[in-house]
Amino acid sequence: MIGVHLRQISSEGLRVEGGEDASFLELDGIEQKATGPVGYSLDAGISGGGVFATGRVWVPMELRCVACLRPFRFMAESDSFAAQVEIDGREFVDFSPFVREELLLALPNHPRCDLNGGLHCSYQRPEGSGGGNRRATKSAWDQLDKFKPER
Ligand SMILES: [Zn+2]
Repeated sequence: MIGVHLRQISSEGLRVEGGEDASFLELDGIEQKATGPVGYSLDAGISGGGVFATGRVWVPMELRCVACLRPFRFMAESDSFAAQVEIDGREFVDFSPFVREELLLALPNHPRCDLNGGLHCSYQRPEGSGGGNRRATKSAWDQLDKFKPER
């Protein structure tokens, strides 16, 4: 669980960092699976009747490209994690459900292997289906390059 014990939080707050087995994300499947632990670096503190935590959460993932069906690596991360939990008599406050929610939101709805710019998707859009103009423009420039005078 990603959380804090109340007694550990001083008046200056508490930095909690570490890695947590990704099974609590409950998203293992063919289309998407975690390839490592969920990392977190959070600043926790007490505010009013609750405990808040803000910071960064991330998990390395393997997703499947919706276009070419090739699996590819993707880092799901958020630098703006923020959650607040009512203390409600508890000694340990669990932020895991909030981390899970944050990371699920960080996953792309339509994952493509060229998302990170590192890979080139082998799937070619059919001509004239819209959005294919960029490729046409690029090849036009390639053609123009051929007409450059040789030196
Ligand atoms: Zn692809």
